[in-house]
Amino acid sequence: MKGPGDILRRAAARFDAKTALITADRTLSYTELDTAAGRVAAALAARGVGPGQTVSLYAQNRWEWIAAYHGALRAGATVNPVNVMLTTEELAFVLKDCGAAAVFTSAAQATAVAELTGDLPELHTVVSFGGPASGALDFDELIATEAPEPQFAVDPDLPCTIGYTSGTTGHPKGAVQSHRAVLLNCALTATMHARTEHDTVLTALPAPHVYGNVVINGTFLVGGTVVLMERFAPAAALRLIGEHRATLFEGVPTMYATMLADPALTEADLTSLTRCTVGGQTIPTATIERWEARSGAPLIELWGMTEISGLGTTHSPHAPAVPGSIGVSLPGVEIRIADLADTTRGAPTGVPGELLVRGPIVMLGYHRNPEATAEAISPDGWLRTGDIATMDATGHVFVVDRRKDMVITGGYNVYPAEIERILAEHPAVAMVAVGPVPDPVKGELACAYVVRVQGADTTAEELIAFAGDRLAAYKRPRLIRFVPDLPKTSTGKIMRRSLITSYEQ
Ligand code: ATP
Ligand code: MG
Repeated sequence: MKGPGDILRRAAARFDAKTALITADRTLSYTELDTAAGRVAAALAARGVGPGQTVSLYAQNRWEWIAAYHGALRAGATVNPVNVMLTTEELAFVLKDCGAAAVFTSAAQATAVAELTGDLPELHTVVSFGGPASGALDFDELIATEAPEPQFAVDPDLPCTIGYTSGTTGHPKGAVQSHRAVLLNCALTATMHARTEHDTVLTALPAPHVYGNVVINGTFLVGGTVVLMERFAPAAALRLIGEHRATLFEGVPTMYATMLADPALTEADLTSLTRCTVGGQTIPTATIERWEARSGAPLIELWGMTEISGLGTTHSPHAPAVPGSIGVSLPGVEIRIADLADTTRGAPTGVPGELLVRGPIVMLGYHRNPEATAEAISPDGWLRTGDIATMDATGHVFVVDRRKDMVITGGYNVYPAEIERILAEHPAVAMVAVGPVPDPVKGELACAYVVRVQGADTTAEELIAFAGDRLAAYKRPRLIRFVPDLPKTSTGKIMRRSLITSYEQ
């Protein structure tokens, strides 16, 4: 195979009528999904969309999104999966930046998107999912007629997708990912997590995100079934696991934290789960232990980023887990821990440094941003991840935190993740995030924003004392704020840098 655009055709030939995808309103076999993708490709080609052009996808998780992703790749276009949380104004920026020729979006947004065509000369086709919309082509009509699919040779080293980062620490950046990188990451992930055609994978990860992509396409690669939630809701996820007898659930830490705190947990049937995966943000060990105890399935941690088209490290369900570690590098991927002050030098074993990644999964660069690309990728191919980590003698990696999220208090570097891990162990804590608040004396103070378990009672003093027993004095949170919820990205990641704007006004 040359790239992810080949996945459905190959899977349909082998798995034919087997169920590929289940969403709230449709169940599709491999052949049905492959046929839909082929028709999208033909329709796009008929409208002059092909190699060298970009097709943007801006919608919630729907089956049409999946068909459009594969169809656009099969038309030879570069796919730009857009975070659905972006406003139409932010979308306009992304469409302009990518020079999108076509956009697939939901009927609710299609008319607003179609209005952008006036300002975007390259954009000529807007397609709406889930019903017609003025100014847009109806998706169902687009794929109603059979037409020959375009044929051309894909160069695996050319751009496949322009994936935007989560925007957890600032403006999202467009990472240009090659066909080889995306396909390889899906294949490596499928192998590492031992996916097979007997798996039914439930996920609410957004399809545009790399984690969502490797879960979905990594399952299609082996002929499993994907049950895709349009958006995450804890009670619904717990119900769907039992209803579909899901063998895998995959999501970010906040999904597990909210399912564990949900009243529906008591009745949920989780007996079908054989393993689950979690990544995207630091996960407290307490959450892993609680989920494993309740589900009876191992919760496999993984680490990944948009700039590497998916995962960089993970554990295998067949290898003994090393608690607190994000696993080992995927086969064929190199990992190095660099000195924080000079990333050309290595940090000694066990000493925290910046995590660097090299290999065929690394992005080609940031879209139209040579300065940011040069800063991120060294001339010999090492990608700076911006994450601080250690590695032990067996190659297991331990993430400390993001460089950017470090709180500097009274001259000491404090990593929010360390405080979060401790506070998450308190039984009254459902979710916690630590962020900086300005302080005239110490510069910054670490403030913990805590969502309490429903009905549980605890005070700031109690939590400060609880953390104080286990953390060095300079690391102890000085402030605790109880909040109803935490600001999250579309993936469900907590935006620590937004805590202060959300709660300190
Ligand atoms: P932005 O780059 O726009 O700020 P982002 O970094 O959150 O957003 P992604 O590419 O979605 O965008 O996420 C990659 C980052 O997520 C990693 O660099 C790392 O900081 C974090 N991450 C992923 N998995 C884990 C994990 N298991 N433990 C800790 N952090 C993780
Ligand atoms: Mg990032």
